[in-house]
Amino acid sequence: MKKLSFKKGWFPMDGLAFNGKLDFPREPVLEVFSPREILLPMLQHVGSPAEPVVKIGEKVEVGQMIGRASGPLSAPVHTGISGTVTGIKSFELLNRKHCLAVEITNDHKKTIHNSIRRRENPEQLTPANISKLIEFSGIVGMGGEGYPSAAKCKRAYQDGVSTLIVNACQSEPYLSGDIHLMREQLDRVIRGAGALSGFCKVKNVVFCVMDKWLIELEAIQDAFKRFQKIYPDRKFIVRVMRSRFPQGYERLLIKALYGIELPAGQRPENTVGAVVFNVSTCAAVADMVEKNMPLVQRIISISGDTMQGHNMLVPIGTYVDDILARVPGASSANRIVMGGAITGVCLEDTHVPIIKTTQGLALVRKSDPPKTPCVHCGACIDACPVGLQPYLCHRLLEVGDIKAVEQLGVAECISCGACSFVCPAGKELAFAIARAGHRSRRKERS
Ligand code: SF4
Ligand code: SF4
Repeated sequence: MKKLSFKKGWFPMDGLAFNGKLDFPREPVLEVFSPREILLPMLQHVGSPAEPVVKIGEKVEVGQMIGRASGPLSAPVHTGISGTVTGIKSFELLNRKHCLAVEITNDHKKTIHNSIRRRENPEQLTPANISKLIEFSGIVGMGGEGYPSAAKCKRAYQDGVSTLIVNACQSEPYLSGDIHLMREQLDRVIRGAGALSGFCKVKNVVFCVMDKWLIELEAIQDAFKRFQKIYPDRKFIVRVMRSRFPQGYERLLIKALYGIELPAGQRPENTVGAVVFNVSTCAAVADMVEKNMPLVQRIISISGDTMQGHNMLVPIGTYVDDILARVPGASSANRIVMGGAITGVCLEDTHVPIIKTTQGLALVRKSDPPKTPCVHCGACIDACPVGLQPYLCHRLLEVGDIKAVEQLGVAECISCGACSFVCPAGKELAFAIARAGHRSRRKERS
């Protein structure tokens, strides 16, 4: 089978083996975590924050809405535990934005809210019904994008897209929640993709998987045959991508599939007629259309050089330190990275909650590599998937030459972190370049 990809990038499994055990991606165990309390920030998505609809002291149940959407580009927030609201306070997110957050103490009774019930024949829901359900569900891009899925579907429908792409290319090493879903809960993922394709009115549903998961291919094709009977008007297709980082980024997926470079700020909906959803997002949509269960929990991958890799299913809002207290070897980690090992954010304080877009935690025992001047090895140029010269961009930013760095195309930076990770001089290139790229894109839009 032909393997698709983009140029450059990086093959992380060659260079990143935290503990020498590469069997983590085959980790079948999924531990379900029951936290003591959760904290639900009202801003876990792109757009405006939700508004709390509960009061301190109020009893809440699993699946109950805690915050309602405040506009067309917003998303409601629901609780994944039952218990009592013990606080509503201001909270600073990792991106330094502030919002309100609702704290709930777990009664460990797992009482389910009366709105949660199994739906008969969900495949017969009309696009309008699905639209309402996804809007209510609070589902956002769970691959890290955080764009409210209801708004994305509406935009795709208005743009008249013909293809729905299911992105199963979780390419960052040691993140394996999506492949876990593909392996263990494939039907759930396909049912979610089926519902989304009904809402967006597309004819083609394309699953993109990486070649390191070829063992799953046969199961995927068998499942497609079954679902073809349920959705006779849709065509289910699988495409295989080469395993390299950061293949899962939307722009690189489009490059691999269509051979088109999407300029920064351009969307696949109005350029190639396709809309992209992540595997976890599809699974969450299936829960909403079939059980009326909004987005209240997610899989996170916990990995590092202090422990064996592990996947956990946690209620959204679970505190990182609560999870770490139950992970053997966590206390010997020097750094806790939230997100992926490469693109994540190093936590100064671990008393922060898992949010809808958190894919994992990396526990790193190694100290930072020694920092030296640039040795002009060119590794960052080879690794950059969008063809930037990270060492030069970084140098120009150091001397404040913003115009020159913009002329080098810094707006194209996708914040993948590959340049920093490969640099033998230990230079933190990505953070400054990604920030400059963000500013440059904002300037271009205004
Ligand atoms: S963070 Fe930006 S500059 Fe660095 S490799 Fe990724 S895209 Fe290139
Ligand atoms: S990878 Fe690091 S040392 Fe090599 S050229 Fe880039 S900045 Fe310089």
